[in-house]
Amino acid sequence: VAYYLKNIQTKAHLNAFVEVYGQSALEQAERIDEKLAKGKAGKLAGMVIGIKDVLNFSGHESNASSNILKGYISQFTTTAVQRLINEDAIIIGRLNCDEFGMGSSNENSAHGKVLNALDESRVPGGSSGGSAVAVQANLCTVSLGTDTGGSVRQPAAFTGVIGMKPTYSRVSRWGLIAYASSFDTIGVFSKTVKDNALVMEVMAGHDEFDSTSSRKPVHHYSELLHFEKKVKVAYFTETLESPALQPEIKSQTEAILEKLKSEGHEVEEVHFPLLKYTLPTYYILTTAEASSNLSRFDGVKYGYRTPNAHNLESMYKLTRSEGFGEEVKRRIMLGTFVLSASYYDAYFTKAQRVRRLIKDFTENLLDDFDYIIMPTTPTTAFKFGEHSGDPVAMYLEDLFTVQASVSGVPAISLPNGKDQNGMPIGLQVIANSFKEAELYAFSNYLT
Ligand code: GLN
Repeated sequence: VAYYLKNIQTKAHLNAFVEVYGQSALEQAERIDEKLAKGKAGKLAGMVIGIKDVLNFSGHESNASSNILKGYISQFTTTAVQRLINEDAIIIGRLNCDEFGMGSSNENSAHGKVLNALDESRVPGGSSGGSAVAVQANLCTVSLGTDTGGSVRQPAAFTGVIGMKPTYSRVSRWGLIAYASSFDTIGVFSKTVKDNALVMEVMAGHDEFDSTSSRKPVHHYSELLHFEKKVKVAYFTETLESPALQPEIKSQTEAILEKLKSEGHEVEEVHFPLLKYTLPTYYILTTAEASSNLSRFDGVKYGYRTPNAHNLESMYKLTRSEGFGEEVKRRIMLGTFVLSASYYDAYFTKAQRVRRLIKDFTENLLDDFDYIIMPTTPTTAFKFGEHSGDPVAMYLEDLFTVQASVSGVPAISLPNGKDQNGMPIGLQVIANSFKEAELYAFSNYLT
């Protein structure tokens, strides 16, 4: 803990942490030392973990990096976080992110931007940028992020660490401040596959507070990392031929596919004609869900209330106008539009149908193949300001990550070399629902 606290201090300018629980982390470490001496410590004894600023932690502020939740103190702890604490992990602090998880560069945070530790003129990715940099820069061993459309995998790729999004419903969402409830997952950043698997197995499993959480048994992922079978891998023509794809990412991905072939695995090219619909489907459905989820922030119950109101209606309006950032407002408006009576069928219902097609295609393909491989992102980490004036260019960064989110299947980003500027490249591996153990084992083999 002392080691990490020192690093956090010397690298404070990266702006990864928005709050550090120094004293309580040291005290917790002492308690765990005593338990260890008695041989009674939990599975994660002493593992130092940072958590994204969208996870409630009792007695601590948690504001989704939004001004509208400034001063909001959680009265309960996220189930996933509580399970880590029950196994004697040490929660060291709260990590910066894009407001309500909306963004791909961590430039949309009320706490300011997070710097990529490898090149401070570049973004760390988003929305879990603080969580990615915390692991990248050795500010904690492991961190939690959330992944609705790529927010764990994309920043992991941009910072050169491992980022895992589990199957939707594998980890309870209780305590996670909702962005898009049918997409939201809690994921893990780490430097090793083993740490990642260990934390995931502790968090996963049914929770009586989240009725959507799965009752399927959880395997001991960290003990199942041995991999020696021959597997079938699919890759999509449409991803490798995408005009948006940076050439070095293409060649690094092809190199992995070649390597797998040479090691006796079956590697097959498959067409995914729906690829171009994944991004619009994702942005229609998530903005719709967000507009509904975020309606609860009205100045009455949580966080910020405008001091400038003169009646009830202006209190609602001004609180929301002053409290939400630009990107969040854009999404609330988009979501309200696609849910409006005159456009509901044309956009929302249509997108639900396309979601079904994408999900069926993905699951059927993963019945025939063990894994799908593709780049995590079309480009490596870009410079600050490069896309911030153009939301559509920013949304394009999620081109390859949203398929797994729309389908609900697990996906991981693994470091796969660097580009000519020395920026890390991410390799994405996707498996079928609830195949976390297989995904971790294959990742262990690939890294
Ligand atoms: N970048 C995507 C978005 O802005 C993903 C966000 C996320 O996964 N939370 O919606």
